[in-house]
Amino acid sequence: MKEQLEQWDKEYLWHPFTQMKQYRQETPLIIERGKGSYLIDMDGNAYLDGYSSLWVNVHGHNHHELNEALRQQAEKIAHSTLLGSANIPSILLAKKLVEITPPGLNKVFYSDAGSTSVEIALKIAYQYWKLKDPIRYAQKNKFISLKEAYHGDTVGSVSVGGMDLYHKIFSPLLFERLEMPTPYTYRMTPDNDEEACLHMCLNQLEDLLKEHHEEVAGLIIEPLVQGAAGMVTAPDGFLSGVRELCTKYNVLMIADEVAVGFGRTGTLFACEQENVSPDLFCMAKGLTAGYMPLAATLTTNEVFNAFLGEPEEMKTFYHGHTYTGNQLACAVALKNIELIEKNKLIPSLQEKIALMKEKLASFKELPFVGDVRQRGMMAGIELVMNKETKEIFPSHLQVEHQVTLEARKRGVLTRPLGPVIVLMPVLSISIDELGQLLQMLYDSIKVVTEKFSHSNV
Ligand SMILES: *Cc1c(COP(=O)(O)O)cnc(C)c1O
Repeated sequence: MKEQLEQWDKEYLWHPFTQMKQYRQETPLIIERGKGSYLIDMDGNAYLDGYSSLWVNVHGHNHHELNEALRQQAEKIAHSTLLGSANIPSILLAKKLVEITPPGLNKVFYSDAGSTSVEIALKIAYQYWKLKDPIRYAQKNKFISLKEAYHGDTVGSVSVGGMDLYHKIFSPLLFERLEMPTPYTYRMTPDNDEEACLHMCLNQLEDLLKEHHEEVAGLIIEPLVQGAAGMVTAPDGFLSGVRELCTKYNVLMIADEVAVGFGRTGTLFACEQENVSPDLFCMAKGLTAGYMPLAATLTTNEVFNAFLGEPEEMKTFYHGHTYTGNQLACAVALKNIELIEKNKLIPSLQEKIALMKEKLASFKELPFVGDVRQRGMMAGIELVMNKETKEIFPSHLQVEHQVTLEARKRGVLTRPLGPVIVLMPVLSISIDELGQLLQMLYDSIKVVTEKFSHSNV
């Protein structure tokens, strides 16, 4: 059975973000079950889920109450359309989302992936200005995003992306984007000077806005941490600084909390930490605790009201996905939020965040660890060949990939982002499990990098 599935996997599947030539040379990991913080393969090997199954899991796998919420909803109905009609879980969830997100966000538009939540925010922002005053705002057709931005993989969300590796090849297909710097303190300043980095980036943004604000519909940002860029943590004051500049120059601010939302940075939402209320707000990954594909784009009454009019005025937002507001997904999302509150999940993170901080400090002493970045329950360990020059290992060595293979052998699953090893434990992980996870990751990095250092790269 297992051999058969391994063979069919290689024969029939095309895995995302995966070089299939390399993949087919290795033994695939086929997950069969999950329990709590663990993923379990077909041989019964258990692995600590070190990347929250790609940044989505909140309460652990195979959670009794989440399973039950799904089962109960399935026994009523799985799906009916939101195009012109309503359903119960999507109404209850929308009300809840408005209550728990930053003040001023009052309307919820559903979709089914982070990329689509961004796509929707961009289209709403663009159309908003056209509806508000088509003549005065005729030029507001562009978006600002950060140098290393990642907002998803659809063509619109790729247009606001800034990662050459993923995005450059598609550039002829994309709409125009204006770029502001990523506050990448480690690589922008010689001595990790957050203050200097902060001012440099905000000043550049202000220069950009001074010159171009009349052409800019919106600015999109990942609050506090740029995940896919390599867990790049912003200096304190950066997010609120961006908010102030957006207001000053009449540009809509879009917060993409797809990765950082639902407790990941130590607060329910990242924007809370700098008292920021964006004009548009995207959420997905943690929304259903890792159970179902669901996303939401929230916005203000000010933006929403611009779309109101008689049918013949053509102010309607002509956008919708078939599974918008799916009942199964909304029911699980409601239960997710209920459990976060009932289990006091957010306060319970503080002890884990402190343990991560303490243990990660020792990673920094390893000879090939250049930088360690952490915000709440998300961390990145950046490997370098040389700490002075900050040069990374050449890609043909696949050092980061080898680290994750070593970690897998030891009982931890994660996935690197370029030179950065990702640590994103399931939020409900126990202190004991977290300690083991950190130790296994430390050992994996140590063993693999030492091997490469001796091979005279
Ligand atoms: C993952 C991610 C997305 C895309 O979400 P998908 O569900 O994969 O489409 C968008 N923005 C950020 C910040 C993300 O981390």
